[in-house]
Amino acid sequence: MSSFSKPLGVVRCQLYLETTGPDGCKTFEIDEREADEFSKNPLKVLSRLWDASSIDEYTQWRASDYSVQCSAIQKNGKQCRYSVAGCNHIGLAKWRYFQGDYCVHHGGETAEVNDQNFQAKFSNT
Ligand SMILES: [Zn+2]
Repeated sequence: MSSFSKPLGVVRCQLYLETTGPDGCKTFEIDEREADEFSKNPLKVLSRLWDASSIDEYTQWRASDYSVQCSAIQKNGKQCRYSVAGCNHIGLAKWRYFQGDYCVHHGGETAEVNDQNFQAKFSNT
């Protein structure tokens, strides 16, 4: 039974969930079932609202500050600290697409080329 059961006379309960994202705050309208689920497993609901493939993907996207770090490993064994060009504070689909890519110093494309490639990929599907 939902914890959001409507008392007598209540026809509709409007619920919103405001969460941070790459462009600041985003508000999602959720139904009572989702609110109930959110109280039990918030990451599961947030992952679905943001169209993540999994809770892991959602938490990694957030932990990265919505940015894609260059995949090159430097001589000291550490991962390059630069970002893939044009991949700071980006949406999840673009973040997913550029995983494993490189910054311009390690053979990656410029932000303009990356944007063109991403647009071409998703306008044809
Ligand atoms: Zn790099």
